Amino acid sequence: MDSIVLIKQVPDTTEVQLDPKTGNLIREGLKSIINPDDAHALEAALTLKDRFGGKVTALSMGPMQAIDVITEALGMGADAGVLLTDRAFAGADTWATSFTLARAIQQVGSWDLVFCGRQAIDGDTAQIGPQVADWLGIPQAAYVFAIESVNPKHITVKRRLEDGYERLQCRLPALITVIGEMNTPRFPRVDRLLAGCREKAPIRVFNAADIGVKTREVGLEGSLTHVIKTFAPKFKREGKILEGGKESVVRELIQRLKASEGATACRAFASACEL
Ligand SMILES: Cc1cc2nc3c(=O)[nH]c(=O)nc-3n(C[C@H](O)[C@H](O)[C@H](O)COP(=O)(O)OP(=O)(O)OC[C@H]3O[C@@H](n4cnc5c(N)ncnc54)[C@H](O)[C@@H]3O)c2cc1C
Repeated sequence: MDSIVLIKQVPDTTEVQLDPKTGNLIREGLKSIINPDDAHALEAALTLKDRFGGKVTALSMGPMQAIDVITEALGMGADAGVLLTDRAFAGADTWATSFTLARAIQQVGSWDLVFCGRQAIDGDTAQIGPQVADWLGIPQAAYVFAIESVNPKHITVKRRLEDGYERLQCRLPALITVIGEMNTPRFPRVDRLLAGCREKAPIRVFNAADIGVKTREVGLEGSLTHVIKTFAPKFKREGKILEGGKESVVRELIQRLKASEGATACRAFASACEL
């Protein structure tokens, strides 16, 4: 059972900060990690490999530094890694990202399953998995939390729904997007991590020409959507917890409500309390 796992390097935060001038993500001071759902996707592929044998390849698109998440994947037990990196890939929306990933998957060789995380914690669209399946013309199951059975022709999975679950059988090859509920990712092994850092580590680095895509098909140029403006919503008021005895807290609350600008209802409530 050969698998490809799509892993994205993301900043280690769920509270993405934007530069108010450029609208770009502020990455300074943020550690980069494997997108959490992708670690679960990798664990799912490694578990299948443990049971049935085969090869697991970790594939990432990003700047050269994304090689770190591939090395970590090798540390966890992946057999090989592929990094897609090229200035032409920059600024891709989900359409161009999924197209690029799909073209790379077609170059990697034969495979039975493509695993993705459900969603990346920075982009948050959850579109890449289903779009990649569409580019590849293969069946897909999203929000998967259990693999019930797998044989050379089919995989049967359970996918989470709002009010329960659905059992799906897909023909192979297929694409699965995985949610965190599925498993606990194993820790990387130090000897494997060290081997992954060596010059002879089984990591291939591909650019646009290597995967046979034209510059106008990828990155910003190949994107159907363009971000006109990004901004972080400003919070005008900050929450404050009043401390002290009940009476003094209520008194201070009333003072604050009375003083608050334009809050007629609050002032009415405050004077009602004083009665
Ligand atoms: C309208 C729009 C415009 C955008 N414009 C820009 C832009 O101008 N510049 C910019 O930098 N970004 C831009 N982005 C963000 C960029 O498109 C996304 O980060 C990227 O396409 C992946 O989408 P996502 O993060 O939402 O991933 P999701 O769909 O949430 O990820 C699902 C899964 O797909 C896989 N995956 C996702 N991305 C990768 C990857 N790079 N490598 C390997 N696997 C991956 C992972 O398994 C992941 O768990 C834009 C996004 C949108 C929606």
